[in-house]
Amino acid sequence: MTEAPNTRPHVVIVGAGFGGVTAAKRLSRADAEITVIDRRNYHLFQPLLYQVATADLSPAEVAWPIRGIFTHDRNVRVVLGEVTRIDTAARLVTTDTGQYPYDILILATGSSNSYFGHHEWEPHAPGLKRIVDATEIRKRILVAFERAETADDPDEQRRQLNFIIIGGGPTGVEMAGSIAELARVTLAKDFRRIDPKAARILLVEAGDRLLPALAPDLSAYAKQALERLGVEVVLQQPVKDVNERGAQVGDQFIPAATIIWAAGVMVPHVGDWLGIETDRGGRVAVEPDLTVPGHPEIFVIGDAARVKWTDAEIVPGLAPAAKQQGAYVADVIRARIAKRPAPGPFRYRHVGSLATIGRNHAVVDLGWLRLKGWIGWWFWGLVHIYFLISVRAATLVLLNWFWTYLTRRKGARLVTGLRPLFPDRSGERKS
Ligand SMILES: Cc1cc2nc3c(=O)[nH]c(=O)nc-3n(C[C@H](O)[C@H](O)[C@H](O)COP(=O)(O)OP(=O)(O)OC[C@H]3O[C@@H](n4cnc5c(N)ncnc54)[C@H](O)[C@@H]3O)c2cc1C
Repeated sequence: MTEAPNTRPHVVIVGAGFGGVTAAKRLSRADAEITVIDRRNYHLFQPLLYQVATADLSPAEVAWPIRGIFTHDRNVRVVLGEVTRIDTAARLVTTDTGQYPYDILILATGSSNSYFGHHEWEPHAPGLKRIVDATEIRKRILVAFERAETADDPDEQRRQLNFIIIGGGPTGVEMAGSIAELARVTLAKDFRRIDPKAARILLVEAGDRLLPALAPDLSAYAKQALERLGVEVVLQQPVKDVNERGAQVGDQFIPAATIIWAAGVMVPHVGDWLGIETDRGGRVAVEPDLTVPGHPEIFVIGDAARVKWTDAEIVPGLAPAAKQQGAYVADVIRARIAKRPAPGPFRYRHVGSLATIGRNHAVVDLGWLRLKGWIGWWFWGLVHIYFLISVRAATLVLLNWFWTYLTRRKGARLVTGLRPLFPDRSGERKS
């Protein structure tokens, strides 16, 4: 007996971030074959990545294997591969590991750091997007204290203890607060020649306030809270240059061994793959049902999409927005498969913006409710635990936070990838 050909529509989803995973999960009961393609084998919870960079959490606590997320979804296939090309005429996705035909395509590839044309700054000021970025930043921060401890030249010692964070959005604010706590509390008594509390932490923002997406009183609170932690907040100063010695901030050159980029994002590739114009940030302007103009079979969602929110605003690049879009396109696709009328246009529901500023301080702007201080901090913690993808992850993160809260120690302070301290001399012995 020959097997009947599989006539179920084939949905290919590129990107297993917030948008892609939500769409695939919602399609897992649909009468369709789903292929999820991602260039890495894990789904990353980016909102807690800064805690990996500042040694609060380990990578495995903020990332989960994509395969594990879909273990029980028999119609979902997971493919590890980097998409390099899309043939929209032949309806074919090409990756470095194979080719995948589609009837319906969802592009959910997120965004990358933007250096506003200064790619040469990237090696000196890594941004925070991937686990390797977080572990690299953690290495630079911890090694800077080590180098300061062993430096004999006072200028070099000073440079090692200067930390510059560029960009006053949530990531910059959270990084600055967390580095300040690391220096002032966690490491305070761990060194003998240097005083880690003497570290200078600068948060540089070109605009006139921190956290521009939040209400002005919350921005002012965040600034005060950071300054109480010892962070120098520098506003209205564009960064003009970044090199291996430090950064030119306005008219002043500040020597620093650790510079972190938290200033801008852009969407790579999607416009090129589809052969269409994008906005300056690389986002694809989609139709109200999140399809690409002229291609009802292709959806773009999440950070990669430019979606109108109000007359004056576009939907922000936030995790809840990507998840809402993932759920919406899954509903559109399910309606098409079932030959039901399509849902109305996508409507974004803004759930709020939050940022934490070290222990006991956070700002929360839900529009109808604004919180700050420790109430905001507890709210921030509960929201993040709620959104973690598994009970295991939530439990591990909670335990870690509880331990850090009680002891004020940061557990994930290991540095890997340094030059070997004890080079292998076995070859010498043999000869
Ligand atoms: C440090 C940081 C902190 C953040 N904090 C918050 C926060 O507190 N609250 C909040 O709401 N939002 C936060 N965000 C924003 C939020 O994470 C994004 O808006 C959200 O992840 C966007 O979801 P997405 O599905 O569009 O893309 P992503 O979640 O970024 O997923 C994109 C996926 O596509 C894959 N991919 C990319 N290119 C390719 C390719 N060529 N081939 C195959 N796979 C590919 C990637 O590997 C990735 O898995 C933060 C972001 C960062 C970087």
